Amino acid sequence: MSGESRTAQPVTRFAPSPTGRLHLGHALSAVRAHDLARAGGGRFLLRIEDIDGTRSRPEHVDAILRDLEWLGLEWDELSFQSERLDLYAAAQGRLADLLYPCFCTRAEIAASLSAPHGATPLYPGTCRHLSPATRAARMGEPHGWRLDMALAVERAGPLTWRDEYAGEVAADPLAQGDVILARKDAPSSYHLAVTVDDAAQGVTHVVRGADLFEATHVHRLLQALLGLKTPLYHHHPLIVGADGERLAKRHGAPALAVMREGGGDGRALADALRRNMLPAGFRLGEA
Ligand code: GLU
Repeated sequence: MSGESRTAQPVTRFAPSPTGRLHLGHALSAVRAHDLARAGGGRFLLRIEDIDGTRSRPEHVDAILRDLEWLGLEWDELSFQSERLDLYAAAQGRLADLLYPCFCTRAEIAASLSAPHGATPLYPGTCRHLSPATRAARMGEPHGWRLDMALAVERAGPLTWRDEYAGEVAADPLAQGDVILARKDAPSSYHLAVTVDDAAQGVTHVVRGADLFEATHVHRLLQALLGLKTPLYHHHPLIVGADGERLAKRHGAPALAVMREGGGDGRALADALRRNMLPAGFRLGEA
């Protein structure tokens, strides 16, 4: 096989956070990512996004592996973000002159970190305005690091990315505010780890739910600042309930583990998802 055709092979990933049980929406993402890789003779990676030490649980990791097996999906590589913290710290170091320490409360930081889904309140910039003397005096306190978004955008210039559903998208990271790039308790954040890993693992197509569309504005910016390649994006429509409400682990959506343990047929479910056929009471929302 020539080198050229090898590089054309797709690499996709399924990247769940082991902070809860997987639901139908995760199954859809996993099936689509898996099939895209297999159709092109490429590789499907499973990446456990466990940098949130306080919320990640080994029993959820276990259930994720079993859920995927139950769906009939085989992965080519399994990785854990908690084992890759050095990579994220190195990336953080390269962005140092665009970052400032943030001493704000854990609750505020949790809001911007652990909820990549949906609207997150924008950081008001409190710590951006601290004087150098105040900063120096407070460096002994627990702190995270935020990206000075205005500076970062100015440095990177105009950027776009290509989305299977939305087409060519102009990146608008300013609308995401000064995001956290390193947490108080880890040398990383969702945004930094996901961007670094997708590039380091050679991911060519990022398949994930439309709830992460907005996050891609930040990821595209980080790619530019760190000199990383930009993959293609497939932000697929979310599965919603009959009432149009989207599924979320925390809102009582049926867990794959419950279906699996109840004797459900995972391969049949995966095949139904391939045909966009959803169990009664569920449908695909808007893209
Ligand atoms: N770990 C994220 C989640 O479980 C998904 C990350 C991604 O696909 O970019 O919501």
